[in-house]
Amino acid sequence: MTDEKPRSHGRLAISASLRPRELMTDTPALKGAWRARIVTLFPEAFPGTLGLSLTGKALQEGRWALETIDLRPFGIGRHRNVDDTPAGGGAGMVLRADVVASALNQAAVGTPVDRARWPVVYLSPRGRRFDQATARAWAAADGVTLLCGRFEGVDQRVLDHYAVEEVSLGDFVLTGGEIAAQAMIDAAVRLLPGVLGNAASTEEESHSHGLLEHPQYTKPQVWEGREIPPVLMSGHHGEIEKWRRAEAERITRERRPDLWTARKASSTK
Ligand code: SAH
Repeated sequence: MTDEKPRSHGRLAISASLRPRELMTDTPALKGAWRARIVTLFPEAFPGTLGLSLTGKALQEGRWALETIDLRPFGIGRHRNVDDTPAGGGAGMVLRADVVASALNQAAVGTPVDRARWPVVYLSPRGRRFDQATARAWAAADGVTLLCGRFEGVDQRVLDHYAVEEVSLGDFVLTGGEIAAQAMIDAAVRLLPGVLGNAASTEEESHSHGLLEHPQYTKPQVWEGREIPPVLMSGHHGEIEKWRRAEAERITRERRPDLWTARKASSTK
């Protein structure tokens, strides 16, 4: 992907300021396209699943851009060391503040200072939990910088110094931030204009109005003795809407009482 020459019909915005090339790989993007900048020890993990299906097609079309910044070349000494033992002792290694800072400086080139327009995030199990509202906020920004940790994490001073926001994929611990970064980018990119074929599908799906989605069915009409609910075959759009709504409410109430309570609280004005 990195060796691919951008086509020369003038719609591609190539940002010359982002070189040196060996420190960053990117994909050609349309002018003003949403950008994800990933600081990682494993740039080869990208685009990963983001290169498939709708997000992959949109990436190829330049509707969004992916730029990985390899942490390794910023490492110290002949061995390009990026980590060291934790101060105070204990297991594992910690990514060095100076090394991460150099990579974050590189990632900041040409980005807006306003964090609403360009969030700068460390993927971290200690962070605020990622959700659909965050995906929407990121999709509305110009782009995001995501710092992927490894080992025991990152020296706290670099997070404080750059006012890096910590965001978690959920209450569990991964080996590194790369999978979390891909999950969050996927959630944001599919909200960008033109990425999903059918724009309406982001309006009605789970978490868009504080409800989980109703069940879905497709052919065959009878499978293993199980029928598609007859109302869905009735052609009566009003009834179908009512049924879907009721099912969405039932499922939300049963599975996520927390969402259901929050929803009721916000609807009683
Ligand atoms: N010692 C840390 C965990 C380090 S896990 C702690 O106890 O908090 C190594 C890296 O994986 C982290 O630096 C982070 O970037 C990533 N990671 C792990 N779990 C994650 C989660 N739930 N969400 C986002 N990133 C996570």
